[in-house]
Amino acid sequence: MKVDLIFPVGDLFKQDGAVTELKHELAVDVSALDPDLKAKTKLTASLTLIRAGDSIAAILKGAKLVVELACLRCLTCYNHPLDLPDLERYFYLPQDGLEAEGEYFLIDPATNRIDLTEMLRQEIIFALPLRPLCQEKCLGLLSQQEVKGEALHQPLAQLNEFWQAEQEKEDQT
Ligand SMILES: [Zn+2]
Repeated sequence: MKVDLIFPVGDLFKQDGAVTELKHELAVDVSALDPDLKAKTKLTASLTLIRAGDSIAAILKGAKLVVELACLRCLTCYNHPLDLPDLERYFYLPQDGLEAEGEYFLIDPATNRIDLTEMLRQEIIFALPLRPLCQEKCLGLLSQQEVKGEALHQPLAQLNEFWQAEQEKEDQT
């Protein structure tokens, strides 16, 4: 499955300058962008394309989606809302020695279109948390055992009972 993130930008290069910017509201399924990515919702964002000299600036705002992640501590899969920072990336017409790299991408000169697939893939991967947690205070597998009644502090409770009993014995004497 291919993600359709290709946009024509030829109108922005026309000499009459009638078109100064192109706006798109995105709602795309980005699951196919990366094999490790489990998107639970479509990615929504507003995209503005503006000509900046010989390049096109792609401005992405309010991008958000929900992804499924595995909690680092308890290993439970949970839904993680992901808000991408607003960003601006540049697309250039291919010239000698210019290659797509990092924040720079290329305009397809044959079709006058840009492809946001790689740009979005990078941004989503960067936005993923390094240490995903189902909740901030997740206590991990240990806490689940406690919930099941295999409490680790049980020996302490028994010790308390023992000392209480000893105390009572002393009090009686
Ligand atoms: Zn957890």
